Amino acid sequence: MSLMAGSGKRLVEPDGLTGATIAFVGEAPGSDEVKQGKPFVGPAGQVFEICLHSAGLIRSQVYITNLIKHQVGKNIHKYYNERTHSLTSEGLYWRDDLANELKGVKANIVVPMGGPATAALIGDHKPNTSRRGYITAATAAFNGRKCLPTIHPAACLYSGSYINIHYITHDFFKAQLNSDVPEIVYRDIDVVIPITMADVKLELNNLLRECLCDCVPLGFDIELLNFEVPCISFSTNPCRSVCIPLSTRLWTDTEETEIWIMIANILEHPLITKIIQNSIFEKHQLASRMGIVVKGSIMDTMVGHHMLYPDFKKSLEFLSSIHDNIPYWKDMVKFDNKKEES
Ligand code: URA
Repeated sequence: MSLMAGSGKRLVEPDGLTGATIAFVGEAPGSDEVKQGKPFVGPAGQVFEICLHSAGLIRSQVYITNLIKHQVGKNIHKYYNERTHSLTSEGLYWRDDLANELKGVKANIVVPMGGPATAALIGDHKPNTSRRGYITAATAAFNGRKCLPTIHPAACLYSGSYINIHYITHDFFKAQLNSDVPEIVYRDIDVVIPITMADVKLELNNLLRECLCDCVPLGFDIELLNFEVPCISFSTNPCRSVCIPLSTRLWTDTEETEIWIMIANILEHPLITKIIQNSIFEKHQLASRMGIVVKGSIMDTMVGHHMLYPDFKKSLEFLSSIHDNIPYWKDMVKFDNKKEES
């Protein structure tokens, strides 16, 4: 074990293969790690290994390191501001040190665990846990390499938070599935946004035909902005969705009414099964704002997931992090202050 120049603090070196395809990054070693000179060998290390094994990985296959290489104990605030989710100048020192270290590690995917490591890899997002489970490009300090932030294993040790072990395991498994190549490969989705009346009619008629002739269930989702519905999306297949822009200058009032009538014909059709996340909310919004009463069988992804895993979170953000491989889509939303230009 080496000592940190100047401070005499004992440094805990990384463990594992520099040729490993996955690297895990923790926060800082604890007392067990300092004693043994190895990262993740204390109580958090035990949780880490359980998750690793459940995800089909073993310690000797992976590279394990920490953002800060010496024990910090309760002084983590000197390196990381929990309120802003950002690194302090001392934290940035260790961020640069980590970036240098990882240059020598193959790691097609890097898994930062917990707030400080996540802030180091992908920057100060608020809150850090919202990116949990989403494959993301690291910042320029790490040349944008592929990473997948997750919760720190120590978070499972506090009473009432054992559920985190399942989320971490899912994330490790996803990291393993995405560790063959360094490039980020998301599930392909073609999002079609029709901007002429002819295209809107074509898309909605195709959806209606597909649902009725091929008995395909229809997924849909409305967005709400300033008490209006700016768009509604439909999908009959996981690789393609149609997003109809509404309340925009694209349409005259008459055209917009015509579009809503076509949408109502689909949503109110009793023979079309609907797939909805949180159907009570969506149905209520459509009924109260647009007078559309959704009919037909409903498969509610939120309710279905909650029945299967009652202890898990059930937001769409969570469900996608666990079951899908798509970018963190909430980043893509850009609202223009000047609504008429949006
Ligand atoms: N927690 C960490 O972040 N790293 C370790 O090595 C041990 C506990």
